[in-house]
Amino acid sequence: MTMMSKSYRGVLQLKTFEDRFEYLSLAGKVGEDTFGYERYLNQMFYHSPEWKRTRRDIILRDNGCDLCMIGHEIYTPIHVHHIIPITADDIENFRDVCFDPENLICVSQQTHNAIHYGSKNTLPKIVTERRPGDTCLWGNNG
Ligand SMILES: [Zn+2]
Repeated sequence: MTMMSKSYRGVLQLKTFEDRFEYLSLAGKVGEDTFGYERYLNQMFYHSPEWKRTRRDIILRDNGCDLCMIGHEIYTPIHVHHIIPITADDIENFRDVCFDPENLICVSQQTHNAIHYGSKNTLPKIVTERRPGDTCLWGNNG
């Protein structure tokens, strides 16, 4: 059995902000902190004209809205997040996954941090319902 990988298309099928957030959440499993050569590569990548053009296209596509949700317009700096995190190897080889619109989505800084580090409590405008499994999802026991 194969698992469908996450995509922008997958995000759009979800109708609420919270569902979209949970779909995208990396819950601290993958970080974006990089060091040394990887940090250098990252900086090269995020300053490249190709990335700047891609970023602008994604912001236009998503109307500058958090998780592409109408009514969640972002008034703070906009992040364009890689749904499937890219690696130094992807960047070095200029792989499609770095620039593929299906792998990109607009998020606010707060939502971005929450996606990467699992700090759901800091998400804006979300009413959290307690459900069975919550503690598993947000705890350290995977
Ligand atoms: Zn990200």
